[in-house]
Amino acid sequence: MFFFFIGGITHEVCQVLKREAGWCINCQSPTDLVNTIKVLRLFFVPVWRWAAKEHFMHCNSCGLYYPPSLSPENIRCQFCDREVDAGYRRCPNCGSDL
Ligand SMILES: [Zn+2]
Ligand SMILES: [Zn+2]
Repeated sequence: MFFFFIGGITHEVCQVLKREAGWCINCQSPTDLVNTIKVLRLFFVPVWRWAAKEHFMHCNSCGLYYPPSLSPENIRCQFCDREVDAGYRRCPNCGSDL
């Protein structure tokens, strides 16, 4: 008897830690910082869930998960050395181009 394993481990949001904490590296939409659980799926049916204890950035627009370290959230102005939100093109503190 052959058994075809169709499935895999996916992430699911279990708690939103911070809304609009960064910007999607894929589509530039606001992303939430979330706590995730891992879900094992067999034939697209969730069969097992467990706490991953990992924080991910989750994009509501394209559904992408990625580690917060990839997020361009904390960029630092090279002129005044303050942290600037990645949504800015220009430093709000000193007006320099970023
Ligand atoms: Zn996205
Ligand atoms: Zn600045």
